[in-house]
Amino acid sequence: MRLDIALGLSFLLLTACQPSAHNVKETRFLLGTLVEFTVFTDNEDAALDAINQAAQAMQKVEDTFTTFGSVKNSVKAFNQAKVGQTVKLEHDVELLLVKALKIHQQSQGAFDPTLGALNELWAFSGESPASSPPSPLKISRALQQTGVQNIEQSKGGWQKKVAGLKLDFGGIAKGLAIDKGASVLRKLGFSQAIINAGGDMMVLGSHGNKPWRIAIRHPRQDKPVGWVTIDKDTSIVTSGDYERFYMYQGRRYHHILDPETGYPARKSQSVTVVDSNATVADAWSTALFVLDIPNGKRMVETMQSMHVFWVNAQGKSLQSSGFKLHQ
Ligand code: AMP
Ligand code: MG
Repeated sequence: MRLDIALGLSFLLLTACQPSAHNVKETRFLLGTLVEFTVFTDNEDAALDAINQAAQAMQKVEDTFTTFGSVKNSVKAFNQAKVGQTVKLEHDVELLLVKALKIHQQSQGAFDPTLGALNELWAFSGESPASSPPSPLKISRALQQTGVQNIEQSKGGWQKKVAGLKLDFGGIAKGLAIDKGASVLRKLGFSQAIINAGGDMMVLGSHGNKPWRIAIRHPRQDKPVGWVTIDKDTSIVTSGDYERFYMYQGRRYHHILDPETGYPARKSQSVTVVDSNATVADAWSTALFVLDIPNGKRMVETMQSMHVFWVNAQGKSLQSSGFKLHQ
């Protein structure tokens, strides 16, 4: 046999024995939702180990921020504290609170991490979700227990100025968990992956030598409104009125509340935010869901890294100038 043919054959045999890159998939229940991990790799064992470590990091975020269940954390300690009592918030909580307060200001109050009392009253989260809206009197009382002006940082920690005020990171902590999970995957050498937490996701790199193709869900139909292609680390987060809701007397009541009125926001059916950072995308998808669309669009156009797709209250699609939807 000629040497070049022999070499060619042994090369073929070698490459046939090596595992080729493929999607390694794992699903976990985290943050109250199914989280799907996809890692594109030829090293399945190392990828499974990395997914485990990413899931652990995400569970830690859930434990640090949750206001449900029996786990103790500094958010619950703050929420149970009396007026004037200083509570030291865990480092990650303080960092996220400061970020949330900044986005509160940038979004003209649409994003508000102090809505805990109001969220509890509406009871869309937790074990026994409500099925009819609370009375206007209860809503106006709960509104008095909200407001960023009613929390204060002092030397040893944070205090509330009105009784019953509670922090709620439900609109931003999932993004932080996704960012932390993604950074674990990256650190362990996996640069082509997706963490999909119930439709909110971080996409890393590309899918082999092609871009990832991510579908955007239709808020009223069981089919995508279109898709986006991604070939570098990018987060895509959607806030929608279909996620946690009930119908009452022909009207939809859902979990994203307008901090001004105390009622579910009614400007959009869904808002999808694309940004390099999932924490930012999560907070802004909630904020933009509350804001009226022209106002929100103006804000988005000043932020170069963020691209947004809205389905408005009438079901019409709108997008910021940098959003590239394929249909
Ligand atoms: P998301 O699904 O990310 O839009 O977040 C909705 C969750 O954020 C709700 O379940 C509440 O816990 C919380 N939330 C509701 N309304 C607001 C708001 N206007 N600002 C900040 N958080 C909110
Ligand atoms: Mg959000």
